[in-house]
Amino acid sequence: KPVIALVGRPNVGKSTLFNRLTKSRDAIVADFAGLTRDRHYGDGRQGGREYIVIDTGGFEPEKPTGIVAEMAKQTQAAVAEADAVVFVVDARTGVSGQDHDIARYLRSAGKRVLLAVNKAEGMSESPALAEFHELGIGDPIPVSAAHGQGIRSLVEIALQDFPEDEEAAEPDEGAPIRLAVAGRPNVGKSTLINTWLGEERLVAFDQPGTTRDAIHVPFERNGQRFELIDTAGLRRKGKVFEAIEKFSVVKTLQAIADANVVVLLVDATQGVSEQDAHIAGYILESGRAVAIAVNKWDAVDSYQRQMFERSVEQRLPFLKFAPVLPISALKRQGLGPLWKAIGDAHASATRKLPTPVLTRLLREAVEHQAPKRAGMFRPKLRYAHQGGMNPPIVVVHGNALEHVTDAYKRYLEGRVRDHFKLVGTPLRIELRSSH
Ligand code: GDP
Repeated sequence: KPVIALVGRPNVGKSTLFNRLTKSRDAIVADFAGLTRDRHYGDGRQGGREYIVIDTGGFEPEKPTGIVAEMAKQTQAAVAEADAVVFVVDARTGVSGQDHDIARYLRSAGKRVLLAVNKAEGMSESPALAEFHELGIGDPIPVSAAHGQGIRSLVEIALQDFPEDEEAAEPDEGAPIRLAVAGRPNVGKSTLINTWLGEERLVAFDQPGTTRDAIHVPFERNGQRFELIDTAGLRRKGKVFEAIEKFSVVKTLQAIADANVVVLLVDATQGVSEQDAHIAGYILESGRAVAIAVNKWDAVDSYQRQMFERSVEQRLPFLKFAPVLPISALKRQGLGPLWKAIGDAHASATRKLPTPVLTRLLREAVEHQAPKRAGMFRPKLRYAHQGGMNPPIVVVHGNALEHVTDAYKRYLEGRVRDHFKLVGTPLRIELRSSH
């Protein structure tokens, strides 16, 4: 997915634009609070094309001279991660000295930069826009984040050089399982990956030249091919892999998006944290299959183990379908059951759900408990078919389905899950009314 970074001085409307770009079309906002101070990451989609947005929000330079230094911290990181930078300026205040500072930095950053002139509602031909040419960034693009104007074409221009998303292909039987290990810094990702790759048969692979591309390490285990998508910024050094980069949110998001199965690695000595929950939420929204591995189990006593189990229930109630596996990457314990969980999750995520079985399940579910009438409407569920894999999607057809409650959808999900014994994968129920 292409990454778009929003850069600009405070109060030009970056957060409003961020919300437009992410929340507008069934987007996901993963707020990695605490992992990256003052940087927000969100998923967006337009016309079937997906992208990631980084907002460099919060920086408040104390004095104008401080801006470059402050930008070095906040903005540079975002710009480095981005494929395209949207430089946001304010049509009402015009060009400021800070804008010039930022423009100078961006011109030297060697990235594709777009100039978005915000708060430009009704100004598309206005001479007020023309003054922004002096920033030397190119043609100003008028937008109104607050009113949702010009956003669509801004995204189009930002994404025009990137290839269209590939159609999600049916997962074919022999294809390798793409596997990602996601987790906070220091939970033991590198240790786990090195343990795995030390034990399993590595297939020769090319290491990409730039640190921007994640490495995909192919390997084989019991005849099943895997492809490990790195999240830890690993490089091979002799026989082991070393993390040469700091934790990267974008890499984590990309790896999750690219994976078939994600191992969410958490640290038994720390309990499930807010950040773990954010990553978990993102995995769920992405629809990936998931196994939760609780690492450093060797280092905790039985009381801590109990406390940990409780924190999983409290913090990750939305991942109830995911198996929880205690492991020790360091001592090589619990890895067999983790492999089994990964295999089961993948099998569940790619299971075929035949239409006749789904339709029968639907009928039985309705017989057992019919959806509630809403005023004069009674939803009628007629038949169901599978709308996708990884995650499995069950499309239910019928009438007045907009009156089906979320609770009833969860009930249907439970019935389908039980019948097909789906573990370790989200399951989506989509309702389609024919009128
Ligand atoms: P990453 O940032 O997620 O890649 O974490 P690392 O793999 O670098 O591990 C962070 C620290 O945790 C290191 O000091 C590891 O030795 C330690 N560690 C990793 N796995 C285990 C484990 O299973 N048990 C214990 N006790 N320590 C571990």
